[in-house]
Amino acid sequence: MSPHVERFAPSPNGHLHLGHAFSALLAHDAARAAGGRFLLRIEDIDRTRARPEYEAAILEDLAWLGLTWERPVLRQSERGAAYAAALATLDARGLLYPCACTRKDIAAALDAPQETAPGLAPGPEGPDGTPYPGTCRLTPPGPDTPHALRLDMAAAIETLGGAEAVRALTVMELGVGPGGETGPLALDPDWLTTRCGDVVLARKDIGTSYHLSVVVDDAAQGVTHVTRGQDLFAAAPLQRLIQALLGLPAPVYRHHRLIRDASGRRLAKRDRDAGLRELRAAGVAPAEIRARLGLPPAAAG
Ligand code: GLU
Repeated sequence: MSPHVERFAPSPNGHLHLGHAFSALLAHDAARAAGGRFLLRIEDIDRTRARPEYEAAILEDLAWLGLTWERPVLRQSERGAAYAAALATLDARGLLYPCACTRKDIAAALDAPQETAPGLAPGPEGPDGTPYPGTCRLTPPGPDTPHALRLDMAAAIETLGGAEAVRALTVMELGVGPGGETGPLALDPDWLTTRCGDVVLARKDIGTSYHLSVVVDDAAQGVTHVTRGQDLFAAAPLQRLIQALLGLPAPVYRHHRLIRDASGRRLAKRDRDAGLRELRAAGVAPAEIRARLGLPPAAAG
């Protein structure tokens, strides 16, 4: 049996709150219970938002919670070559196209639907917002124009053998606790086309993207189980598609309920009263954090 490998993958653009603690503790406990491995990955591809002081604070907060992880810690900012190789693989198969559109260009194109590329009528919001209207597919940018790289979703589905073959791909969802969705969830080619569309796989500014980096790194680190918040549930089918395109193994997913504040709103990094630093400063013990999240006490040893 392959070992159970979990990861916690925070972005160092703020301090951790109870929602992050929930993901990290669930992943850590599951790995320990299975006699497996727990990895930490710093998702710092966005250099304008990532700050070393946040990274240091994350490590400190996780250690305070009682977690231990393998070293060295993988940093996405050091993985540019791996992302470039994955993009080159997709490009060689004709699955990427350059896009120079700004947010403003996209908003204008969405207001003028006649400019939408055939087969790309934008649907409602998917995991990456409103699908791209296909402007740069109709009129490619000049070779010297700085550009992002988008996945040609129609070509991607075709490459995998068409809609039926894509429907045969599944996201294995194990859920966490009662009420969570479980079982193999079939990919829906129509949803991929109308809700995701031609997603950006390499941003103009950083040369990669969240989805591409996560898929490449989960595979490179041998991650077998992805434990994270329900807010990323809709990202899983898209990531599964990218895994299939790159011939990478698919981990199983456990999306957990979101931790909310007293008014029922999902926690954000600015919510100070749920911040781990603030709770620690207020004298709250790690055992109380576990109890507050409905988690059992830390296993001995
Ligand atoms: N870095 C992402 C975040 O902090 C999590 C990515 C993932 O778990 O797939 O929201």
